[in-house]
Amino acid sequence: MKHPLQQAEYILTAANDEQLPPPGPPEIAFAGRSNAGKSSAINTLAHRTRLAFASKTPGRTQQINFFRLRSGALLADLPGYGYAAVPRDLKRHWQQFLARYLATRQSLVGLVLVVDARHGLADMDRALLAGYLPSGRPVLLLATKMDKLTPSAQRLAHAAAVRAIAEAFPAHVRNVAVVPFSATRGIGCETAEGTIARWLDGDATEVAAVDRTTPAAKDKAPRSRGVTRGPKRPV
Ligand code: GDP
Repeated sequence: MKHPLQQAEYILTAANDEQLPPPGPPEIAFAGRSNAGKSSAINTLAHRTRLAFASKTPGRTQQINFFRLRSGALLADLPGYGYAAVPRDLKRHWQQFLARYLATRQSLVGLVLVVDARHGLADMDRALLAGYLPSGRPVLLLATKMDKLTPSAQRLAHAAAVRAIAEAFPAHVRNVAVVPFSATRGIGCETAEGTIARWLDGDATEVAAVDRTTPAAKDKAPRSRGVTRGPKRPV
């Protein structure tokens, strides 16, 4: 599966649990703070210019947009978070919807979390990871917009993201791959595609390009026996 997101097609939008497609084919989810670069990452990986445009249309920004991949797998584009302008009740509704989806969706095999490399992890990124990681499933953290940084700043931003994960989630370090990324320059695309392809092939153990050289990651990473093949069923 060389370009797993190529030929993705929009299929439906879900605003609540009842509207989710029946779980069946393997599913990957994309999440990120508004403006982090999630739509651009999806479009680049799908080799399209406006695929994730659906998620930007009014009325669809707080819902989960689903796309079907060539293999039959599904891609769930989760609502971007961090908009202060959203009314509090609505915000609470979709935050709970999102958290429930991530913690309990049976067919979910991996989460791609898009983070602006210049800003690092947001509180809501941490909150989502805290709900998701205990399920034992992997995360591909795309530290994006790397093209806006000098090579030395890129290295620092990557190391900072790896450290932030190791400090916040020491028990799950091995399940999180931090990949430097740029939608505009194509940085990290092959690595991301490789990881996603492996997830969809049923190999959830392999997370690519985890920086194990960081002392915090080395010290706290559990041995591989703690990692199961394939996603654990939510309890
Ligand atoms: P979303 O709200 O997370 O879907 O973010 P978008 O994909 O719409 O991106 C937000 C802004 O960042 C847009 O102006 C994009 O053109 C820009 N952007 C996204 N990814 C990159 C990137 O890798 N490099 C640069 N330079 N700009 C990017």
